[in-house]
Amino acid sequence: MSEYQICKRCVMDNVGDPNIVFDENGYCNYCSTALALKPNYPEKGDLSKVKALFDTIKEACKDDPYDCLVGVSGGLDSSYIIYLGHKFGLRMLGIHIDDGLDTELAKQNIKNLCKKAQVELINLQPDPEQYRDLTLSFFKAGVPNLAIPQDNLILGALTKAVKDYRLKYLLHGSNYSMECILQEGNSYTAADDVHIRGIQKKFSGKPIDKLPLTTTFENSILKRLRKDVIRVKPLNLMDYRFDNALQELYDFCGYEYYGAKHHESVLTRFMQCWYLPEKFAADKRKSHLSSLVITGQISREEALDRLAQPKYPSEEMKEADFNTLASFLGISRGEFDELLSQPPHSHDEYPKSVLSNKIVPFLLKIRDALCVRRR
Ligand SMILES: [Zn+2]
Repeated sequence: MSEYQICKRCVMDNVGDPNIVFDENGYCNYCSTALALKPNYPEKGDLSKVKALFDTIKEACKDDPYDCLVGVSGGLDSSYIIYLGHKFGLRMLGIHIDDGLDTELAKQNIKNLCKKAQVELINLQPDPEQYRDLTLSFFKAGVPNLAIPQDNLILGALTKAVKDYRLKYLLHGSNYSMECILQEGNSYTAADDVHIRGIQKKFSGKPIDKLPLTTTFENSILKRLRKDVIRVKPLNLMDYRFDNALQELYDFCGYEYYGAKHHESVLTRFMQCWYLPEKFAADKRKSHLSSLVITGQISREEALDRLAQPKYPSEEMKEADFNTLASFLGISRGEFDELLSQPPHSHDEYPKSVLSNKIVPFLLKIRDALCVRRR
């Protein structure tokens, strides 16, 4: 076991992270790479690049029923995208996967936001029994990313909507400002249906034919070849800041924050606060807080203070989440606790498609290397 080491510039450390490397200054590979990719942000308040993008979209789609598609999770980034789109007059079609695990606050935020921004929302509910059974299989598999089934369904729903409504643009909330550092490892792509079907076959064997899963081939190859939708990331064209975004959303529609990233769903909150740290020694707050440090939104000292706080906001919330998940999975609380006491497993222990696992990551690495060299 190597000695504990934490980056001297951000708050990434070597706990449960075999991928982290430190240079002679004590700086880690995550923040060094993030700084190398740092874009030239417009000045605070300068939305000219966002406006230019949205004007282009409006012109290209003026004869279509909608200007663009947006995935709606209730989280801050996708919510702010909707607010921005409304501000500049985009006619947006939203898609939300309602899997029964949204927090009450998320439901309220989504409802208020979509109403105020006049977003037409498609609320998709996966087949409850098959979705429950598949999620239970992931718990039994003991892999880090329990949210793969839900993430695959949203990918599939977005792809289908693009085709059904002949949409030309997809607004994406991913951004440099709050995600320039993401811990590697302890995860796997949601696009690999071979992996999903393999886990379901091993731990249940029941059909999942009513779940419209998207396939590896569709996501890795077809979508790129067809080029039928242009994915845009408006948050990278402005000075996107956590505090400002939250305040603007609150003023716009009474949006309330969940307290931390990914706390809009009971499942992802459980993963962030208990499952990943306890089972895999992966505290994802380190990535988010390091991103805020590197983009100058908080100091390193503040990040360290926040990391010292308990991961679950309260013991009551933790108990309630555990009970909610046991009930959702259709098992007793005792059976749920028993499942959690099993040893953790890696995604590598289950079937993976060669396309998702080897070829696409290799191509993406080459692309990233070329990006760094060009800057
Ligand atoms: Zn660092």
